[in-house]
Amino acid sequence: MNEKIAIIGSGIGGIASAIRLAAKGHQVTVFEQAGNPGGKLNEINKDGFRFDTGPSLFTLPGLVDELLSLGEVEPSDAFKYRKLDIVCKYYYEDGTVLNAWADPERFATEACEKVNEPVWRIHNYLRKMGEMYDLSADLFIFKPFARWETFKSDAGKKVARQLHKLDMLFSMHQRNKRSFKSKHLIKLFDRYGTYNGSNPYKAPATLNMISHLEHTDGAYFPEKGMYDIVRQLVLHAQKLGVDFRFNARVQEVLLEEKKATGLKVNGGVFSADRVVNDMDVTNFYKHLMPNRNLPLRLRLMEKSSSAVIFYWGMNKKFPNLDLHNIFFAENYKEEFQYLFRKKLLYHDPTVYVFISNKVTGSDAPEGMENWFVMINAPVNKGQYNETVMSEMRENILSKLNRMLKNDVASHIVSETIGTPLTIEEQTSSAGGSIYGSSSNSRFAAFMRHPNRMSRFKGLHFVGGSVHPGGGIPLCIASAGIVSEDIQNEK
Ligand code: FAD
Repeated sequence: MNEKIAIIGSGIGGIASAIRLAAKGHQVTVFEQAGNPGGKLNEINKDGFRFDTGPSLFTLPGLVDELLSLGEVEPSDAFKYRKLDIVCKYYYEDGTVLNAWADPERFATEACEKVNEPVWRIHNYLRKMGEMYDLSADLFIFKPFARWETFKSDAGKKVARQLHKLDMLFSMHQRNKRSFKSKHLIKLFDRYGTYNGSNPYKAPATLNMISHLEHTDGAYFPEKGMYDIVRQLVLHAQKLGVDFRFNARVQEVLLEEKKATGLKVNGGVFSADRVVNDMDVTNFYKHLMPNRNLPLRLRLMEKSSSAVIFYWGMNKKFPNLDLHNIFFAENYKEEFQYLFRKKLLYHDPTVYVFISNKVTGSDAPEGMENWFVMINAPVNKGQYNETVMSEMRENILSKLNRMLKNDVASHIVSETIGTPLTIEEQTSSAGGSIYGSSSNSRFAAFMRHPNRMSRFKGLHFVGGSVHPGGGIPLCIASAGIVSEDIQNEK
């Protein structure tokens, strides 16, 4: 029987769920509080520049292709992307500049020449990460984790037989320190902890497999920028009959005898057979589920990091920079102590500079560049004020000036600032956390909020704050789990 399904939020998880469910014949309506779709995956157009506001690193593009092929409608080939030759360009305070070539051979050769790491060690490491990914991705990413049937499945049995290979007893940093001689490479691979907002000095070494995606499978970039992912998916969803309602803030989930029966939206009632929630799950319980306590797991788990982002229009081109550039902190460990223990901005942060118009020429006026300059930041606990932000701006500028040997500030002609507060304001993420909960513990995967709760019928959870986690590929994977759950429950 086809059902009437209401989705709260048009983040990538919400859109992916809408496509999957509409392709199966359900009548799907998406309620989005903002005026446009995308949530954290969004864009700003200002002063002739276009900026992707959130995600910039794009892996497993096949997951988007798959969504665009679902349903019995004319497929579109409008979504185009390219594989990057250089995954990221890394700058270190000692003057070392390391290109992470997508080709593992070329990367290993460059790392051997520049930071004196034997080629065989790099190949060995990447091979192991690939094995770990192949062993566990099906269980950890594409299946509903922490359910008995998952552990009894073939994927579950395979992992159980080779549990030791998941490297859960060490932290990411401990494993990387054992794997490489070079401090430069340890930092480079530790950084993958930040891909789900975690602390590599705490997160289990299993997460080192994140690097496999970029270093072996490859990093990609959409020809028209990251927001084209949203644009094309929404067009496809609409072709399948999905009804998107913007400026539609959901105020409450309506429950009858523990079964979701609809939503209260903008003061009116929308009845539905099921509700799929794509809003950050902590704020979902706080604001949309009256008289419900926050589940213990959400109270216990540390939030993922957030970010401070400067979107700078630059009046000149910087030919030495690539699409993705990292300027490492000298003392990486201390940076994470500030992020997660002290919950303060660090005076010498690792700075990420992403310049989409290296690929998408039209994102900046002729001869100019659009810089997205981001540092990891603690979630909002009231510590962000004007003084803190202006000190941080100065620290970032002096770091970039030093490492690029340039006067960066003198080239800024447009500025917009994103903070944990604006992330929370615009997407309702608790404290502005980017990925919901962090993975700063060995048990994090087991503690993540599941895609459905047995105590509520007809209520499903999708997106970056629930299983399997944040980031575009994982959010899309969560939509796959939710749509399968709904088919199985019918
Ligand atoms: P969200 O994007 O969280 O969207 C939720 C939606 O729900 C929002 O549109 C919100 O307006 C809406 N909503 C909330 N409350 C209500 C309500 N009451 N009623 C109606 N609508 C509501 N990922 C990557 O893969 N690669 C990256 O490089 C990367 N970098 C990032 C950098 C930054 C600065 C940020 C912020 C994120 C980054 N991410 C990255 C993470 C990625 O953006 C997220 O994991 C993903 O986009 C989250 O999608 P989601 O489905 O959880 O929904």
